[in-house]
Amino acid sequence: MTLAIMSALLDEQRGLLEQLTNPQRVRRAGRTFWCGQWVGQEVVLVLSKVGKVAAATTTTVLVEAFDVKSVLFTGVAGGVGAGVKVGDVVVAEAFIQHDLNSAPLFPRYEVPLYGRATFDCDPVLSAQLLEAAQLGLANVGDHFHRSLLLEAPRIHLGLIASGDQFVCDPAVASLMRADLQAAGHEPMAVEMEGAAVAQVCHDYGVPFAAMRTISDRADVQAHLDFSAFVNQVASPYALAVVSQFIKLRSGR
Ligand code: SAH
Repeated sequence: MTLAIMSALLDEQRGLLEQLTNPQRVRRAGRTFWCGQWVGQEVVLVLSKVGKVAAATTTTVLVEAFDVKSVLFTGVAGGVGAGVKVGDVVVAEAFIQHDLNSAPLFPRYEVPLYGRATFDCDPVLSAQLLEAAQLGLANVGDHFHRSLLLEAPRIHLGLIASGDQFVCDPAVASLMRADLQAAGHEPMAVEMEGAAVAQVCHDYGVPFAAMRTISDRADVQAHLDFSAFVNQVASPYALAVVSQFIKLRSGR
């Protein structure tokens, strides 16, 4: 029952890779897959690459070539929901593509021929991830967020919007949010891969769960100190939460 753990950024993947016993490197489709065991569980670690198409390719290879039976994604995202601040963690309930629009042929945001705009994450896997996030962040201590003068992290559960755009303008972010709300969708965070991974997992019937640490508020500050944030906060959080998730799954 191989578990895939996809990360968006190399810095986030590094800490996870150190946990693997007997890591084997396999190259496919221009990507590096690391196969190994983590507390006795078979896992494959891979970088999604950035954007929806790249993430869809990575997910397809995971299912077709590595026969993974569940997929976990960790990454960073821009916070767009009210009260979703830098340093918080969002566990995804579902994903939507904020830049998909085939109106008037199909309702705005609907994925043509799927009859739906959102793809749900697996409820069981997501409940485990939520529990792992609560336990993991409680264990990790407060020096990580304090190092960047952030408040203690809150954990949210909700909709994440994906698109092929790094959102770094408050006007763009609030228009996106208002348009999604007008169609009945309330996004908490924005990023560039999750909806693609969710759709591919839906196609194959593979359970999927995702967490994103909020790196920015999708405004003009969004590009600042991105690497400091990833190294000092998002990477230790990803390691703490994934370690806890693996523990929960192996019943230890
Ligand atoms: N500066 C990075 C580039 C990463 S692009 C580098 O040097 O590698 C941004 C990544 O973070 C994407 O994977 C995306 O999913 C996520 N992300 C974080 N904040 C975002 C935002 N405001 N809008 C869109 N994607 C965001």
